[in-house]
Amino acid sequence: MQLRSSYPEIKSSMRLILNLFLTAVLGLVPAASATPCQVPDVSFDFIIIGGGTAGLALASRLSKALPSHCVLVIEAGPDGRHEQRIYIPGLRGSTFGSSYDWSLPTVPQAAANNRTIGHNRGKVLGGTSALNLLVWNRATVKEYDAWEELGNPGWGWQNMYPSMLKTENFQRQNGTAQYGVDGVGYGGPIQVALTENPPPQLQACIPTLTSLGLQENLESLNGNNLGVMYQPATYRASNHTRSYSVDYIPEAGDNLAFMFNTTVHRVQLNTKGSKATGVVLMNGTLVKARREVIVAAGSLLSPKILELSGIGQRTVLNDAGIKQVIELPGVGENLQDHLRIQTTYELKPDVLGVDVLKYNTTLAAIELERWKRGQPSLYQYAGSCYGFLKWKQALGDDSKLVQLAMQSANMSNPVDRKKLELLTGHGSGAPDIEVVFSDGYIGTTGYPKNGTTGYGKQYVTLLAGVQHPFARGSVHINGSDPLNKPLVNPRYLSTSYDLEALISAAKYTRRMAKTAPFKNVWVSEFDPGMDTETNAEWEMYIRDNVFTFYHPLGTCAMLPKKDGGVVDPKLRVYGVGNLRVVDASVIPMIISAHIQTAIYGIAERAAEIITAEYR
Ligand SMILES: Cc1cc2nc3c(=O)[nH]c(=O)nc-3n(C[C@H](O)[C@H](O)[C@H](O)COP(=O)(O)OP(=O)(O)OC[C@H]3O[C@@H](n4cnc5c(N)ncnc54)[C@H](O)[C@@H]3O)c2cc1C
Repeated sequence: MQLRSSYPEIKSSMRLILNLFLTAVLGLVPAASATPCQVPDVSFDFIIIGGGTAGLALASRLSKALPSHCVLVIEAGPDGRHEQRIYIPGLRGSTFGSSYDWSLPTVPQAAANNRTIGHNRGKVLGGTSALNLLVWNRATVKEYDAWEELGNPGWGWQNMYPSMLKTENFQRQNGTAQYGVDGVGYGGPIQVALTENPPPQLQACIPTLTSLGLQENLESLNGNNLGVMYQPATYRASNHTRSYSVDYIPEAGDNLAFMFNTTVHRVQLNTKGSKATGVVLMNGTLVKARREVIVAAGSLLSPKILELSGIGQRTVLNDAGIKQVIELPGVGENLQDHLRIQTTYELKPDVLGVDVLKYNTTLAAIELERWKRGQPSLYQYAGSCYGFLKWKQALGDDSKLVQLAMQSANMSNPVDRKKLELLTGHGSGAPDIEVVFSDGYIGTTGYPKNGTTGYGKQYVTLLAGVQHPFARGSVHINGSDPLNKPLVNPRYLSTSYDLEALISAAKYTRRMAKTAPFKNVWVSEFDPGMDTETNAEWEMYIRDNVFTFYHPLGTCAMLPKKDGGVVDPKLRVYGVGNLRVVDASVIPMIISAHIQTAIYGIAERAAEIITAEYR
């Protein structure tokens, strides 16, 4: 291609000066060696908005598969690859609320005593995969098949499973936590492993849940996740660092360019609205796209970009004073998320946990030094132990929840009908509740503050999540100013099923806590405390503490347009030929898993679909 052959003539010193200029002045950074694909005033074949989990995976795959095309990633945040709070697993969580976080609170949630609930979202290269809690798992065959059955040929388990496997490289470690054979992939860019030797408070997990009737499941990533198990974390075993979507970059060619610290305002459409011609940056600059614009800004920010571009619901756009170009009522709707609650337990004084790092600064410094030297350290810890259950397994009698689910489901909505099918269908195999044994304090308001009674102690947390809640919310722009945060309204606990499900889940974690051998590691229940006993008390606790499992999705759903869809099965926005969405927004129905594995799988599928069109 013309652009590529001309560049080698630039002498290396000139190249350095050009790169420094591009980096310092324009925020434009080459992926590997510079090529004309990075020259700022040319157009690019593909512009990807957001260098996050999906965006970076897709960009890297496209650049490799289409070497004669220029691929540009525009990322609002910086390149954070030097940031130890990102790459040291034991420092996960320390970036929440920092400059690497968009921090997008919900609007007050009526059923949660009008609390606003914080949503962290990565604003840095790697996006939310740079901030997340490293869990790596998969849902059940039937749930991915449900995506296909909702009107999306090619998006069932048969296609999603190989795409997800392509992403990962499972590293087998020695030690007590083990995984079987089936369900893991090798050779992909994302490194995953089980934590080698879990501490006693986590080792109690499998015997505790098996004595409550669950089966141990050593191959829980193969499409059947029911049971109790350790699951991998996104973790590079050789040097104990986080593995995240930046690990795709070495797979890319030198036709991949980046703009950092650069926020896209909107997509530029032609006058008919049928074609995306480029993107407009916050400073008004137009960057032109020769082939496609791909929105990968995440489930809480991709709808905002579409709406600011005139694509969306008439009333939302009217209220914001934005001229509607394309009527697409589904934009920003169908917001689904996993509901979370937890009970927390103070550990016996002789059990070592990760909370010690929060109040013993001397030990924290020693442990950090050990991590830096590659010696075993509390900072390398990245794992947890999980249980995935049907209500019948957790409660014995699931009739009340089944009845509430039937009342809560909106039967005119195909997504709700699918959820109900999974919940009530005989042998559906899709879990209704997840429980997690997690070392350290993970209460709603964070580790107890210095000066309060809870400070200076160590904890273990039992988390529970409702897998298919029926609340469906929305995220929309708040006026036409692109600086405004979107209005995030997940409508937590807005159905009778969701509330009763979370109450039942919390009670179950108490039951787990009182079961041997786990009951032998703790001295007292910190949250909510054993004086919470009656239904009314549990309900109060739930309304005061319901939280997100951080899995908002579905806001630019891949569904038929008549069902509220925003993108078709090729991830193209209805009505605009060359505009796609590739991120968590397109997932039509929430699944019984932490969702990054699926998001990488979606990026891999998108890369295959787009490559097939342009090769
Ligand atoms: C605290 C937390 C913990 C989590 N833990 C886990 C876990 O352990 N396991 C798991 O499977 N999942 C977890 N998740 C969920 C998972 O990490 C996310 O769902 C996933 O990473 C989202 O990927 P994405 O590609 O949809 O969006 P993102 O990764 O968020 O990417 C979006 C990117 O777009 C950029 N962007 C946005 N707007 C613009 C704009 N206008 N211009 C330019 N760039 C823009 C952002 O800065 C970001 O880099 C967690 C999420 C959170 C918040």
